[in-house]
Amino acid sequence: MARPLAGPDDVGCAAARGVDGRPLHAAALRFFWGPMDCGKSTMALQMNYNHARQGRRGLVTTRIDRSLGPQVTTRIGLSHTAIEVTDDLDLRALVRGRWDEGVRVDYLICDEASFYTVAHVEQMAELVDSYDVDVYAFGLATDFRSCLFPAAQRLFELADEVARIQVEVLCWCGREGLLNARVVDGRVAREGAQVVIGDTVDTAEVRYQVLCRRHYRSGDLGPRR
Ligand SMILES: [Zn+2]
Repeated sequence: MARPLAGPDDVGCAAARGVDGRPLHAAALRFFWGPMDCGKSTMALQMNYNHARQGRRGLVTTRIDRSLGPQVTTRIGLSHTAIEVTDDLDLRALVRGRWDEGVRVDYLICDEASFYTVAHVEQMAELVDSYDVDVYAFGLATDFRSCLFPAAQRLFELADEVARIQVEVLCWCGREGLLNARVVDGRVAREGAQVVIGDTVDTAEVRYQVLCRRHYRSGDLGPRR
C-alpha cells in the first residue's frame, strides 16, 4: 500500500526541525545586563532595528526611562516610542490585543526590565513557551545596594540565555565598573528606596556613579570631575 503523502502539517513540521530533531527556530527569553551607562538601551534599539529590517514585527516596552516618557532614550541620542509597563499591565494581554487587531508580534524588546515586576518576568516566559514570541530583556542586575533587583533575579533564574553587555564602563580608577552607586550629597548612599530616579550627570540631585567593587565598598568617588 502506498504511503500517504505528507500533509502540509507534516511538511511544516519536517522543515521546522534540524538534523538532530530539535526545532530550528524556537523562541527564547534572553536577558542582557550591565551597569548604568553601558549602552543597554542603545543595544535594545539596535536589536529592534535589526529584527524589523528582517521583516519581523515587535513591540518595545520600557519602565521609568530617563526621559520619564513612553519612549526608550539613549545617552547617545537615539530614541524610540515605547509602551510604558505599569504594575497592572499584562504582557500576554498586550500581545493578544495586538493579535486581535491583526498586528503580528514576533518579539518583545523589554528595556529597563529590572524595574518590571516578577510577574512580568513570568509573563515573558509564558510568551516564549506558549506564544512563540521572542523576548529580549535589557536591564541592570543590581541596585544601589549591590543587591539583585527582584525582576533581574527572576530573569537570571528563567532566561534561556543571559549575557553581560560587553561595553566596558570604567570606574574612575580605570578598573571595570560593575556596581551602580547612588550618590546623595556627595556620598555613596547605603540605604533608601530601591528605585530613585537620577542620572549619571554630576548636576543631578541624586545621581548614580558606576564604580568598581573596591571603590563601591570603600565609598571612594575619586577626584572631582
Ligand atoms: Zn575603582
